[in-house]
Amino acid sequence: MAALGGGDRERQRNGIGMTSARTRTRMVDRLRAAGIKDELVLAAMNAVPRHLFVDEALAIRAYDDVPLPIGHGQTISQPWVVARMTELARNGRTLGDVLEIGTGCGYQTAILAHIARHVWSVERIGALVAKAKRILTSLKLVNVSLKHGDGSHELKEDLAVDAIVVTAGATLVPTALLPHLKPGGRMVLPLAQPGDEHGVQRLTVLDLTPAGIKEQTLDAVRFVPLLSGLA
Ligand code: SAH
Repeated sequence: MAALGGGDRERQRNGIGMTSARTRTRMVDRLRAAGIKDELVLAAMNAVPRHLFVDEALAIRAYDDVPLPIGHGQTISQPWVVARMTELARNGRTLGDVLEIGTGCGYQTAILAHIARHVWSVERIGALVAKAKRILTSLKLVNVSLKHGDGSHELKEDLAVDAIVVTAGATLVPTALLPHLKPGGRMVLPLAQPGDEHGVQRLTVLDLTPAGIKEQTLDAVRFVPLLSGLA
């Protein structure tokens, strides 16, 4: 693809052509047809310009229902997965404070920021934290706090949230995060199940109920792995 001139880039930022609001509306129609029901989530998916979160050369594919590379061996999750996890995290409630593990380029963060009071998002790759910060700032999303950290371990912070969304594939429940969940809170994560093909996980919902943790195993998904340590 030829380099974009200033005017082209301006048009792309404004969302004309393959990255237009109309393309986004079509994506939302497909999400609805694929079973996403939460209108608040669909409105957020309609509002956030997904093409700004991928490299310009990939912007033309930004609204296809596929994951795309974002550098550093990581991906932006496919729209259906982002919508589904957000719908599960909200669970029909007014969403207060949310912790996301695995910011990546910040797309899921932006969707959550549209429907939650505040989003804390943790990413282990420093360069991605900087990239996400740039994009989220340009979108004027002020109810977001990003942190360079390892979200598979306890966060050294006094943070209590209503929902935790883990956007990297876990082989075990990251129990270190559970103390950050308020009573009645919910964790949504891709969790590998015994017998699953390598790299496949199930969307898993953990509800912190008075009677203990209630677990539901849902759709099969494919996420990059949840890793330890910083990069
Ligand atoms: N939420 C993103 C998905 C990014 S892919 C989206 O909207 O598309 C998953 C991200 O999780 C990667 O950027 C990866 O670096 C990050 N990650 C993996 N293990 C992590 C950990 N222990 N702590 C924080 N981030 C982690």
